[in-house]
Amino acid sequence: MVNQMPDRFRGSSVVGMIIVMVLWPAMFPGRVVSFQDSSIARISKPQGGVSVAVLFPFQEVYRIPLRVHLAGSSRSLHDFIPIYNEINRIWFSQAGICFDVESVMDDVDLDSDGFDMWFTPDLGGFNGYFDGEYIQMKDVPVLAPAENPSSDPAARTAAHELGHALGLGHRQDSVENLMRSKTFGWRLYPEEIEIARQNAAEITLPQSADDQDSCPIQ
Ligand SMILES: [Zn+2]
Repeated sequence: MVNQMPDRFRGSSVVGMIIVMVLWPAMFPGRVVSFQDSSIARISKPQGGVSVAVLFPFQEVYRIPLRVHLAGSSRSLHDFIPIYNEINRIWFSQAGICFDVESVMDDVDLDSDGFDMWFTPDLGGFNGYFDGEYIQMKDVPVLAPAENPSSDPAARTAAHELGHALGLGHRQDSVENLMRSKTFGWRLYPEEIEIARQNAAEITLPQSADDQDSCPIQ
């Protein structure tokens, strides 16, 4: 099954990401970090040379292993590359949290810190859920609109469930919120970022000199 989200969602999301990147320096004085993301570089060109550099307000990027189990999914592996990229754009751009994603075709879960996520065509009426240990995802979640929506409902839902896994509850006061139920919003609040980063710090991979301020995208 392919992602059938209409183009208007994709376009608005691109605009949303660019707005974030443009506003970031004003919002967060800090050091410059670059996205190693060719798709962001591509989408910036039609907007007249918007820089891919953002000012990074965090002392440290937290890198969290994320093993994605696709043996039961109806989608192709190729479908998941933009999904992973969008999960990382949502989390890295706002919270300095970068998921180190590994796709597998088995059910062997991580034996180290991090999260396991399974995709399946039907989740009994759920778009996704975190059961306290594992994340379960529907292949193509059904979400309500947001003014600045994510591109892909699976990416948004996965990012939302990762929020739960990082200690966040629901926040229903705006359709723009990542932690609102069943909508396309992706925004995190400062207090949510603080909680998520505190939990991410407990399970982060060790830092290397090369990855202190960037999040490689596939
Ligand atoms: Zn939820």
